[in-house]
This record gives sequence, C-alpha cells and structure tokens, in this order.
Amino acid sequence: MSRTPLIAGNWKMHTTIDEAVTLAEAVAEASQGLSDRQVMIAPPFTALSAVAKAVAASPVLIAGQNVCWEEKGAFTGEVAPSMLKDAGCTMAIIGHSERRHIFGESDAMINKRVLGAQGAGLIPILCIGETLAEREAEKTFTVLEEQTRKGLAEVTITDPAKLVIAYEPVWAIGTGKTASKEQAQEVHAFLRKIITDLYEKNIASQIRILYGGSVNSDNVDALMAQQDVDGALVGGAALKPEAFIRIIRFQ
Ligand code: PEP
Repeated sequence: MSRTPLIAGNWKMHTTIDEAVTLAEAVAEASQGLSDRQVMIAPPFTALSAVAKAVAASPVLIAGQNVCWEEKGAFTGEVAPSMLKDAGCTMAIIGHSERRHIFGESDAMINKRVLGAQGAGLIPILCIGETLAEREAEKTFTVLEEQTRKGLAEVTITDPAKLVIAYEPVWAIGTGKTASKEQAQEVHAFLRKIITDLYEKNIASQIRILYGGSVNSDNVDALMAQQDVDGALVGGAALKPEAFIRIIRFQ
C-alpha cells in the first residue's frame, strides 16, 4: 500500500497574474526532481492559464479553487470542469470551509461539484472540517462523518488516486492554531474508517487524506509523520515561497 504524499497550496483570493507566475516559478524550481511526493498549487482562476504555462516543464500540478457541476450554461460566476482542464488543471478543491461558511455551500451542492469534477476527469479534493463550536460540543466526529458521506454520495472510486480528502478544522484555518499531531491523526484514522465503509478496503486504504489548518514550516514534519496524514493543504504559508518550499521538503 502506498500513498504518495501531496503538498497542496491554496492561494485563495491572492496574487495578480504576474505575482502568481513569479510564485509558481519558485515552486516549480523547488519541485524539480521530487519523485516521492506531489506538489499542487491552486492560484485564482484569473492566473490559472499563465501559471500552468509557467510550471509546464515541472512536476507541479494545478488545481481550481472550486468547480461547477455543469459543463456550460447560465451559471454566472461559476467555472466549468472543462474550463479548468483547458486552463491546465488536473484537480479541483471542493467544499473549502470558506465556500461552506462564507458562501453558504451545502453538502448537497458540494456533492454535485465532486460528481461534476470526477465525471470530467478532474481529481476532486473534498474539504471537510468542524467549527470550534462543534468541536467544543463534542460533535466533531458526527459532523465529519456527515460531511464525508454527503460529499461522497453516489461517488464511485475505482482508482484511489482519483479522490483526495482534506481535513481542515475550521478553527485552525488562517488562525495560527494548528490541530495537534495527535488530533490530526485521530481524525484521519476515523476518516479512513468511514471511507473503508464506502469503498473497497484496498481502495480506501490508498485514498489520500490531507491535513489543513495553519500548516507551516515548523509543524509540517510532525504532522506528516502521522500514519494517516498523507499531505497538507496549505493556505497562508503557500504564499510565502521560502515557507512553502520548506513545507514541500518536509522530512
Ligand atoms: C486553507 O486555506 O485551506 C488553509 C488551510 O489555510 P491556512 O493554511 O492559512 O490555515
């Protein structure tokens, strides 16, 4: 059983096209020759195409920060799976906590996005995570199970490389508060059980589960040393070349 670690940078609503290309070039250079891990970046939609060109000669993968379930039509403000592919993406972040909590995306909508991405051949990165209030009310596992089951409803997986799950506790995103390595491992092991219930054991054991929430150059090694932590989804630190390159080089 092997799960190739994935370090993913979510640039959120940051960078002009020029800034994005400069940052992407630094990531591409640092990723040359890395064969035991994958590196992915998710620039804003406006910079996708320029970034894809900038990293074309490197192993860096590109993702959209969201994706629509429809291929075309009257969906103002949305981006179709084929448009992401056309711009150079192979992956799409779906259900990020900012989409859920600022823009009100429901599990049902997120599920449609996952199905749409998968149907078009993009790898969905399904993000799930509990709020602080839910953790304090001891609802963490109930919430995560519901988000996982609803997000993956009707999703068939025959190739474990074609789905990524990201556990991102809402209280840890952009707050500087990281889940402890024990908290992360506990949740990831729980999520592995849920997906083992949904998919065949040999498939579920190979699906990658990333941790996200204030990952930085100081905590990445300890998090990545956990048995069920297969990578990191990085926000703030992904915008700082030095920090992100150190994260890519986790030991
Ligand atoms: C994120 O945006 O997915 C994230 C985890 O952000 P940060 O690393 O800044 O907490």
